[in-house]
Amino acid sequence: MSWRSIPILCYHNTSAPDGHTPEQLAQHLDCIRDMGFKTLGVREIVEIVTKKRPLDFPAVGITFDDGHVSNWVYALPLLKERGMRASFFVCTDFIGSGPVRSQSFAPKILGAGASFLQATVNNNPEQFMNQSEVKSLVHDHGMDVLPHSAGHECSFIREKPVAAKKENWCCHRLYGRDISGENMPCFKGGSAYARPGWFPHQENGKIHWHARDRQKRYNFCLADFKRCKDALEKILNKEMDIFCWPWGEFDSVSERALGDAGFQAAFTLERGRVAPGGNPMRIGRIGVSPRKSLGWLKKYLSLLRFAPLAATTRKKVKLTAC
Ligand SMILES: [Zn+2]
Repeated sequence: MSWRSIPILCYHNTSAPDGHTPEQLAQHLDCIRDMGFKTLGVREIVEIVTKKRPLDFPAVGITFDDGHVSNWVYALPLLKERGMRASFFVCTDFIGSGPVRSQSFAPKILGAGASFLQATVNNNPEQFMNQSEVKSLVHDHGMDVLPHSAGHECSFIREKPVAAKKENWCCHRLYGRDISGENMPCFKGGSAYARPGWFPHQENGKIHWHARDRQKRYNFCLADFKRCKDALEKILNKEMDIFCWPWGEFDSVSERALGDAGFQAAFTLERGRVAPGGNPMRIGRIGVSPRKSLGWLKKYLSLLRFAPLAATTRKKVKLTAC
């Protein structure tokens, strides 16, 4: 039997405010185990893709993006109970200090948007895993922890305003303060790495808008990617050459900066086959939103495990002129 593809699942927070409860995650992990999959860390997956090790058993990758504290408090014990490995992609600007926390000694768990707002606007990273937890994940629990950028930076990516109640954390982040109730123009937020984007700048009571040219964006990407690589290498005393794209998005400018920062592999949100001989800079995953049922997971794992040579489809990124 040749195992043709490694399904890689992308989770985020493991918490009720985001609709993805620890109970749901436990059901998913049981399903993965009962279907006979072995869990691999992303370093092992990159070795398989680059043909440094064979793929001779049914394997799955479990990844968590953003480094939310709920991954440490809730996801880790569920993984450990089942003897499973997982990989955590963290934003290094949000890694604070302090001792490891537990379910009884943890801040009230907030949703993703509130957590990003608190970390980026209020400079309070308590909703994300701290240094002690990141170190323990790797050195005590055998998990992989790798960079997901330094600051998960956003930009406005659409010209159509969004309603105040649909504002996400990017609106506040881009104005540098909580703008709730101020009636400031707000647009859909997205990657500041893969998009030229639009940035507000307030002067004399007026808002001016600027976008970046390719060189400025390259410089911005390179600085962020080098910063997250250096920071995590210092914390974990390990080489960090595997990256995970925030929002799963990239383009030629951001990809060039990633390579120049010294990364050798990158995880995306593209669909397609992950197997020996693939492109290590384009390792696709599937996002597992709270809407995805257990039935969906079973079907997806069965299909992808035996996937034929499907072409990798690239997530489209519309770029507007600078
Ligand atoms: Zn993210």
